[in-house]
Parts: sequence; C-alpha cells; structure tokens
Amino acid sequence: MNYKDTLEKIEKKLDGEALLGDLVKVQSNPFKILIATMLSARTRDSTAEKITESLFKKYNTPKTMSEADIKDLEQVIRKSGYYKQKAKRIKETSTIIHEKYKDNVPNDFEKLVNLPGVGPKTANCVLVFAFNIPALAVDTHMHRIPNRLGWIKTKTPEQSEEALKKILPINLWLQATRTLVRFGQQLCIPTYPRCNICPVEDFCAKDFTMEEEMRKKRKEAAKRKAKRENTKK
Ligand code: SF4
Repeated sequence: MNYKDTLEKIEKKLDGEALLGDLVKVQSNPFKILIATMLSARTRDSTAEKITESLFKKYNTPKTMSEADIKDLEQVIRKSGYYKQKAKRIKETSTIIHEKYKDNVPNDFEKLVNLPGVGPKTANCVLVFAFNIPALAVDTHMHRIPNRLGWIKTKTPEQSEEALKKILPINLWLQATRTLVRFGQQLCIPTYPRCNICPVEDFCAKDFTMEEEMRKKRKEAAKRKAKRENTKK
C-alpha cells in the first residue's frame, strides 16, 4: 500500500482532532498555536490543551502576554513540564512578536527558530497548523510510527525527519503530520499499540526495535540503581 493510501486509511479510523488540529478548527490563531506548541513539550496533549485555554483566558495577545507578571505566568502554566523556563521563554517570545513583528507570528522557519524556546519541531508545527505550509513536524509520534510501520529505520526524531523527507512527497507532508500525530495519540500509542483494531495492521512491519531498546535501557538502569543501593548497605 502506498503512503497516501495508508494515511487515508488511518484518517478514516480516527476521532476528533489533535490538540493543534482543534485549535485550528476553532480559530486559526497562529499566536495561540505557537504558545500551545511551546507548552506541549514534555507535557501530555490533554494537559497542554487545558493549560493553553487557562493561559489564553488571562493573556490572549502577544502584548498582554509580554506584559504579564512572570510569577503569574509560572503559576498558570505550572502543570506543564519545565514551567519556569517555559514562562520565561513565552514572555520573551511574546515581546519579540509584539515589538518586532507587530503582533504577527512570522510564517518563516528561520524567523521562528530564532524566537526564544522555539526549536525546529515547534517551528514546523506552527508552519503546518497555523499557516498550512508543508513541513514535517517530527514529534515523538512522527518518529515512532513510521519506524513501527517499517517506512524508515532511525534512532532519533532528527534522523526521522531527514528520512521521511526522502520518502514522502512534499504534498503529503501536511497530511502525514496531522494524521500520524493523532494516530499516535489514539491507536498506535507508545506502550500498548491497539494493533487489533488498527486499519493498517496488514501493511505494518510491527518493528518495535525502538521500544525494545528503550525497555533494555530501563532494565539496565534499574539494575545499576539496585547495585548502587546494595553497595550502600
Ligand atoms: S499495526 Fe500496531 S504497530 Fe502497526 S501501525 Fe497499527 S497500531 Fe501501530
């Protein structure tokens, strides 16, 4: 089965939208999409969604976010991983968007990655979800699923991005990002993928090398910890 057919088969089976897809549906607000993406790093999508909503109830423009008290920002987003660092970067980024870009989030990769706290993954998410510009936003799902499917064989999200760019035609980048992220949240989930109801099971290599290596590393780390504790006694 080709990539397009696989993505379409998966799409038909999915419910709703991913965090960013939901934001796009409700209102296409590039600033909100940028901040939601920054907040979603090392945070569950459902938690990031709630935090984004609370944050935007208080501060919904680059200007108000840039003027926010840093302690209050930290308090509102405290359930997000690395919240202190994120609060600082959100405030700095909002200031630049307000002052330098006149409240408009730039739709340019280089300009985006120059904002504090915005890496290539966040920049690509913003291009895809806020501006419909083809890009591959390779997060944990986009790294894991193509490896499981047997499309690529890589060890890091960066390698996956390069490998996917080589195999997927550019007109599938948007669709791949939007579909596989949701697929990873609903069916091809990290720990116990729901292969029994997966629409592409017959075409999947079920390559779980990545998970096996991770399990092995965790086991070794646990053994080392137990050994250290035993020697202390
Ligand atoms: S068969 Fe299982 S591992 Fe393969 S894509 Fe479907 S859910 Fe993921």
